[in-house]
Amino acid sequence: MQDTFRHKGLRQKLVEEIKGKGITDQRVLNAIGKVPRHLFMESSFINFAYKDSAFPIGAGQTISQPYTVAFQSQLLCIQPMDKVLEVGTGSGYQTAVLLEMGAKVFTIERQRELFLKSKALLERMGYHPHFFYGDGYAGMPSYGPYNKIIVTAGAPEIPAKLVEQLAIGGKMVIPVGDSNSQTMSLVEKINEKNVEVTYHGSFSFVPMLKGTNQ
Ligand code: SAH
Repeated sequence: MQDTFRHKGLRQKLVEEIKGKGITDQRVLNAIGKVPRHLFMESSFINFAYKDSAFPIGAGQTISQPYTVAFQSQLLCIQPMDKVLEVGTGSGYQTAVLLEMGAKVFTIERQRELFLKSKALLERMGYHPHFFYGDGYAGMPSYGPYNKIIVTAGAPEIPAKLVEQLAIGGKMVIPVGDSNSQTMSLVEKINEKNVEVTYHGSFSFVPMLKGTNQ
């Protein structure tokens, strides 16, 4: 569990790279500069940790591309103390970025293997979100409403239960589409009955699946 000067140097280069791709939120850039992404990667990919790419993390899933993590975080305008629900813990990298931004994070993962691995890793690193093993389609109503919701898997549609758990004035970012390509959608809850949805480009995520996987 080492974070060396070399890693820090590579991370600063990554920050400059995603800045060049249009990320301007200084809190997002600071968080990307702080979180040691190499510790979230499988050993065979560790040398590529500061490349702006997605990589396999086991159980058929991927750690998101840093630009995508930054883009989703920027769209949400994360404020310190925001209550954030994350659907798809995966490697835990996005979770750590949200925590570095000062958010209170509630994170759900449906793959038992990844849930156990990422929970242990984040805790060892001193990150303390609330972890849940379950189906993110249902959200986590007992801890809601949330100021922000982030979905890190591609969904066929906007899940109504997640909209319900969003606070008035809250924002949800979710890639919506089929298994090949999704449109990054920002859902803002205007009042109890109405949302406003805006679209922010095309991305490619692993699919959001129903139920859990033992
Ligand atoms: N941000 C994560 C992305 C992981 S990929 C990272 O950077 O590591 C998306 C994750 O969503 C996968 O781990 C997948 O198992 C999970 N997932 C898919 N459908 C889900 C659901 N219904 N509920 C919870 N997690 C889900």
